[in-house]
Amino acid sequence: MHTLESDRLMQESPRMSTNTQARPAFGTVLADQMAIATYRDGRWSDYQVKPTAPVEIHPAAHVLHYASECFEGFKAYRWADGSVRAFRMDKHVERMRQSARLLVLPVPDAEQLSQMVLATIDRVRGQVPEPPGALYMRPMLYGTMPNIGAASAPSNEATLIVLASPVWDYFSGGMKPLRIYVEDQKHRTADHLGMVKTGGNYAAAMGPTLEAREKFKVDQVLFCPGGSVQETGAANFLLIRDGHILTRSLDSTFLHGVTRDSLLTLARDLGFKVEERVFDVQEMLDWVKDGEAALSGTAAVLAGVGTLVLRDGTEVRVGNGDVGPVTQRLRAALVAIQNGESADRYGWTRKV
Ligand SMILES: *Cc1c(COP(=O)(O)O)cnc(C)c1O
Repeated sequence: MHTLESDRLMQESPRMSTNTQARPAFGTVLADQMAIATYRDGRWSDYQVKPTAPVEIHPAAHVLHYASECFEGFKAYRWADGSVRAFRMDKHVERMRQSARLLVLPVPDAEQLSQMVLATIDRVRGQVPEPPGALYMRPMLYGTMPNIGAASAPSNEATLIVLASPVWDYFSGGMKPLRIYVEDQKHRTADHLGMVKTGGNYAAAMGPTLEAREKFKVDQVLFCPGGSVQETGAANFLLIRDGHILTRSLDSTFLHGVTRDSLLTLARDLGFKVEERVFDVQEMLDWVKDGEAALSGTAAVLAGVGTLVLRDGTEVRVGNGDVGPVTQRLRAALVAIQNGESADRYGWTRKV
């Protein structure tokens, strides 16, 4: 395993800054094997598992000019019986295929991509940390057609790689409530690409996020263009109050998180009323007076929001300003299924 720029990444992640156990920051360590396949002449090659190392890329490759790229992120957990289990892999494979389709990239074969993930996990089995750690899987796909005149032509060549990264406790510094800037004007990305997990969306959100961090000392930005609440740069947004959850209904403007789907499924089964619909900043401010707000995503699972900061600098406290009890309970319920402490009634975990 090797470390990549861990110091710099630690600085960019305020939630990790009080990490006293000196565990490497999320994403800075890679497992030593990866799987790779290439697309050419209308077909995918067989895949290979080989040492994690730099890949050669033509400087005219489509991705380097026209950002033809997408990726996935999900985890495999070490269970107490020693087995390793991938969490909702099929859902992530399908989402990757959808991202590829929407970006007009060669679409990976679902069976082959699944086999690449399973083979990679199998080869680095010994590098999967104990819970609350996990092995974070990062499949990635990019266009390699060497043609700088292809601004409006799709790449007919591509590379598919599955990287794996051991990750440790996301909340090792304690579960601190997040400060979130409410961006009610700027868009995170183009509305028709919000549901695609592509690097370009992160590039688009980077400027506004760094600006808000600098100006308001926030952790993340909640994008609410035209006042309509969407999501943050890398996580979905949920409101919780009185056994009731409110979150945006699925549309093309935001990423359809698998964690969001898992939490909503669990919440319904626990008797929560779950409402998926469009809502605006005004309604959100009303909810948080005596409710909870949280961000969902694979990395943190569910992270509580303590403060919302508005454009004029007004700070709005969410509930009593701490991570809410329901947020903690829902998170614990999902984590218990992921690491095998609770029975998986949903068929979400797959033995590798
Ligand atoms: C990956 C991602 C999420 C979270 O999705 P999960 O499947 O829950 O990990 C949310 N928003 C954006 C923009 C993302 O890229």
